[in-house]
Amino acid sequence: MIPSKTLKLSLKSLREFAKKRLPDEVLIDLDARDECPMEIVRHMCSPDKLGIQLLFIPEEFGGLGGGAFDVYCICEEMARVDLGVATAVLATFLGSDPITVGATPEQKKLWLTRIAEEGLLFAYGATEPEAGSDLGALRTTAERVSENGKVVGFKISGNKQWISNGGVADAYTILANTPSGPSWFIVEKGLKGFTHDEPEDKHGIRLSNTAALALDNVYVDADRLVGGVEGQGLNQAQAVFGYTRLMVAAFGLGAGWAALDRAIPYSTKRIQAGGPLSEKQGYTHKLIVPNVARLEAARAYIEESAERIDAVEGSLNTEGAIAKYMATEAGNLAADASIQALGGYGYTHEYMVEKIKRDVRITTIYEGTSEIMEMTISRDRWQIHLKTRGQHYHECAKEFEVLHARHPNVGADIAALAFHALAEVMEKARTARLTRHQHILLRLGELIAYAECAGALARRAARKAENKLNEKANQRFDAVALAAISRIFAREAALKVAEEGLRWVIGAEGVSGAGAPGLEASLGLPAIHRAQADLISDMDFVADVLYGRAAKRGEQAA
Ligand SMILES: Cc1cc2nc3c(=O)[nH]c(=O)nc-3n(C[C@H](O)[C@H](O)[C@H](O)COP(=O)(O)OP(=O)(O)OC[C@H]3O[C@@H](n4cnc5c(N)ncnc54)[C@H](O)[C@@H]3O)c2cc1C
Repeated sequence: MIPSKTLKLSLKSLREFAKKRLPDEVLIDLDARDECPMEIVRHMCSPDKLGIQLLFIPEEFGGLGGGAFDVYCICEEMARVDLGVATAVLATFLGSDPITVGATPEQKKLWLTRIAEEGLLFAYGATEPEAGSDLGALRTTAERVSENGKVVGFKISGNKQWISNGGVADAYTILANTPSGPSWFIVEKGLKGFTHDEPEDKHGIRLSNTAALALDNVYVDADRLVGGVEGQGLNQAQAVFGYTRLMVAAFGLGAGWAALDRAIPYSTKRIQAGGPLSEKQGYTHKLIVPNVARLEAARAYIEESAERIDAVEGSLNTEGAIAKYMATEAGNLAADASIQALGGYGYTHEYMVEKIKRDVRITTIYEGTSEIMEMTISRDRWQIHLKTRGQHYHECAKEFEVLHARHPNVGADIAALAFHALAEVMEKARTARLTRHQHILLRLGELIAYAECAGALARRAARKAENKLNEKANQRFDAVALAAISRIFAREAALKVAEEGLRWVIGAEGVSGAGAPGLEASLGLPAIHRAQADLISDMDFVADVLYGRAAKRGEQAA
């Protein structure tokens, strides 16, 4: 883990570098020209310059040994600058992950030291034209080359699609099928038979180079097989999903906030109907406040998951999926609302929110699409539901009822309602065998993510009140504001779980017309409706906080 002071310094250097080298006009120009600023990417990855990649390389190999929390902080900050450049840096994180997780000690020493000392850029080559979400459909092959009965190398053949840094990397980790199954290989640029296409002409992240790769009998020595044992590739990829998805979650969070942080000041200056837009409730309560609540719920989940990964609680794939799903969906909604918040100006290049919206779009696609996240979340929690005979989320609810007794203001009581409703919806889905419908399975994934994020945000608000947040945690909101944000999100989550849960159960004929009132009661809908009380005053308060009016109002009241 990096000391808090070092992390703060790195974040400051990053901000200063971006201010100087990547101001809006430069970003707009690079975006229009569809150009990856290689000199800037190299600068960011050079050990004697910004050296961002040092943060995630273990200390024994010349890095700073950053953990998941550090990487989340850096990824959020990079995304606030530009998601294309952030993706170029992330590709080295991703590309070296199979090495960090699965390589032999000699391989780790060689490659991780080279990344640290030489600023080597990596690319991560998993996806293929026919194998996207379903990596099992992989067609790239690695054929053994033997001498005197001993495997001395491999010949790799196949195609890779949509590879970030594909046209600019120094080295690639390539997933290929060996006779014993999928395996990662380290392939350096310039090898005979190894070529890449022109960069893709993309909707967003146009500052990132994305290219297809072709491998035609590319020979690599046997020591380029990561870990030295064939068939470990999918396990090695799985082992880091919790961690890598947290990075993309931080991208969604950073980009979403970057857009809102343009909309908020804009609305204080834009006068319509006799006053600034920031004073208009119909504007702030639709376009700004709910997006802040969703982003902060996602942040709470990201921070909790990062702390758990750093405490070596396991690879936390499902938690990574929840974090990525919530943060990237929230980031997209926030960026879209920010275009609306700037009206016609938002629709032009000059005001940047349009670019942020195009950029953040990728985050619900790469590192696993939102639909694959829903499936991952739902399948895992479904098993827990079965194992605990339907009690898992009722038990979670109890935890929040206890929290509510200690902290009555953080929305823990409403989060508890969401968990009880979720347990009931899942139990109904079990007894009526509704998960035979894939759509129901995936919708459950969404409801689970909302309920768990409501819980995480209530816990975070309570920790903030107790002054116990991680010292590296984002401190944008004080305890009172965070509690109000938590209550707003918990209300949304509880209502969503109960009403959409009911909708899908009825929609899949999981309950008859006569049975519907009983289900409505078991979901706690009346209590969830009553919990919406004070929603508007909480939104008023959060809007005041966002616009720096809360203290002023307090003074006036006094
Ligand atoms: C700009 C960019 C950069 C990228 N960088 C990299 C990189 O560096 N390295 C790398 O290896 N890959 C990279 N990717 C690939 C990316 O991870 C894949 O695009 C992604 O995993 C989805 O695969 P696909 O495009 O084949 O879509 P598909 O898998 O064909 O999915 C298409 C749609 O169908 C849905 N879907 C798929 N399967 C199911 C199912 N079973 N049930 C229901 N719905 C389903 C998906 O959610 C999606 O909405 C990148 C992609 C882009 C666009």
